[in-house]
Amino acid sequence: QCFCQLSGKVEDCCCDVEAVHNLNKEVYPKILEIVKQNYFKFFKVNLGRSCPFWPDDGTCSLKDCSVQTCKEDEVPEGVKGYHDPKKEQPKKCKGDNSTLGDVNIHLSEEDKQAFETWQQYDDAENSFCQPEDELSADLKYVNLLLNPERFTNYKGDSANRVWYSIYQENCFKLPNPYTEKYEASSALNQLCLEKRVFYRVISGMHASINTHLSAQYLFKGNGFMKPEWRPNVEEFKKRFDPEKTKGQGPSWLKNIYFLYLLVWRAVIKAGPYWKQEGFFTGHKSEDGLVKKHIGDLLLQSRNCPSTFDETMMFTGDPVTSRGLKEEFRKKFRNITRIMDCVGCQKCRLWGKVQTQGIGTALKILFSSNQFAEDTVSPSFRLKRNEIVALFNALGRYSSSIHYVQMFRSLTRR
Ligand code: FAD
Repeated sequence: QCFCQLSGKVEDCCCDVEAVHNLNKEVYPKILEIVKQNYFKFFKVNLGRSCPFWPDDGTCSLKDCSVQTCKEDEVPEGVKGYHDPKKEQPKKCKGDNSTLGDVNIHLSEEDKQAFETWQQYDDAENSFCQPEDELSADLKYVNLLLNPERFTNYKGDSANRVWYSIYQENCFKLPNPYTEKYEASSALNQLCLEKRVFYRVISGMHASINTHLSAQYLFKGNGFMKPEWRPNVEEFKKRFDPEKTKGQGPSWLKNIYFLYLLVWRAVIKAGPYWKQEGFFTGHKSEDGLVKKHIGDLLLQSRNCPSTFDETMMFTGDPVTSRGLKEEFRKKFRNITRIMDCVGCQKCRLWGKVQTQGIGTALKILFSSNQFAEDTVSPSFRLKRNEIVALFNALGRYSSSIHYVQMFRSLTRR
């Protein structure tokens, strides 16, 4: 039996592992189809920002770390233009041209600017991610399908420093994987739910990255064989076998399941938002197809109704809870900034997609009173990049679970 034969309840969640497998059987092909669409494959990102925490390690020279950015004419106009014209029909005040989105009021230019500034401020306050500088010339579109997350050979001091900094300096006081007596499970039991959730999110993302690099591993060629990308069972064992990870490997893998359920819950919770979103690319039939795929995906919520329950969090004394929530938000935001310290461009790209995707999930789960029954509060907005990151993050954790099952069938002890 393989060590990755996981079973039992996904800790701090409602489902058990088998229920997740059943859910993912349906979700996996659907999310793969969704992230292939034009709306979801172009991600706007600045890969040139310098690390805000320590001097850059220097540019990575590994071939498989390079990222191919898009040429201007490769990105559909609709994606570049951001807005669905249908959504942009502002309601006009009678006898007046001054309008502001859907707000039907008279405003001077100065008031409009102040309004915009406050709206940006509100967006930033709600956000779990460090926003990109929209005016930077370094913001580029990347086609995620042409730059898949896979083995790059990024390792050593640079990678260690990033993970160390994430776990030790930017999380709550979490189990330290770099100490001799590291035993995450007993250390975790001493933490409150919110801090455990934070740890599981980070550990789940880490495990997902390491699962992907093991599943899409580069076997170098030689005189007889061509180089080949395929699963590397030994690499997967090295990273997750309990004998090689002080017993921790299986619980790290289970944290992928936790993260999957958390992101899935956010996608389901924002269901009313997806109904009103145009997924605008400029091609009507394509936009309709994306909506249909997302509708099909949401139907799967019937198969696993109980997932992550965000209402259990931040429920104690109001002042303490508010402080804890703010701390949670700031720490996660800091982790999105650490992504600028990742020394391999490809890893940085996918690190950014995932942290932004998780940040969007947290925004959906913890922005108060934004969703009721079938409606969305007008003040709740998601940018295109947030939506792209959220669905791609779900795609990552869905394929990780698929890969864990694949390794289960390939691994025999
Ligand atoms: P690491 O994975 O660096 O882990 C360091 C220590 O953390 C381990 O010794 C262990 O004690 C602990 N640990 C390991 N996993 C977990 C977990 N899930 N939960 C809790 N603790 C854990 N490499 C690629 O080839 N392709 C990529 O796309 C890629 N993306 C990356 C993205 C980011 C943001 C970062 C920081 C790194 C990325 N890497 C990628 C590098 C990869 O994650 C490893 O850091 C690298 O392969 C070196 O592995 P390692 O054996 O030193 O252990």
